[in-house]
Amino acid sequence: MSRQRRERALAAATRHRPGVARLRADVVELERHARDLLGHIRGDLDDDYLLSVRSGLDHAAGQLGQLADELGRQLAVLARVVEVLGDPARCGLPWPVCPHCLGQGLSSSGRQSWCPGCRRRWPTLQVDPCPWPAVATVTDREGAELRLCASHTRDAGRRLVGATVAWDQRGRSGR
Ligand SMILES: [Zn+2]
Ligand SMILES: [Zn+2]
Repeated sequence: MSRQRRERALAAATRHRPGVARLRADVVELERHARDLLGHIRGDLDDDYLLSVRSGLDHAAGQLGQLADELGRQLAVLARVVEVLGDPARCGLPWPVCPHCLGQGLSSSGRQSWCPGCRRRWPTLQVDPCPWPAVATVTDREGAELRLCASHTRDAGRRLVGATVAWDQRGRSGR
């Protein structure tokens, strides 16, 4: 974990967002094209000769629609990464933790994450990267400093040998 990694991730997400958005727009356009074509073929010939062509095009259009949805989800991830990592007041570590049970990692399945301790649930998009406010400075053995939320600070204090933790005045009580 390092500040440079965070900056590189922010820069990459910012740089590649427009490319992913263009790709999604292209796929949406392709899906529209496939459905148009399907409509024409259906209108032209209402018999069994082209049955497999019709069902194949229908399937292809459905796949393109799913692909557009998936790209839309990845665009939302990129937007969230830019939003969280672009805000120096937020923790931003890439694995989610519970803000109520300090140091407790969240379990994830599909698009949902939950705390094994208190059972609170969040959409994964909302908690990864870590959106909780940075309330302490953790310095590792090499002298690299990181601003972390209360929960990640508690975790780092346990895990990083030789790390020092300096809590902010107000953040002491955590959340
Ligand atoms: Zn919890
Ligand atoms: Zn955190």
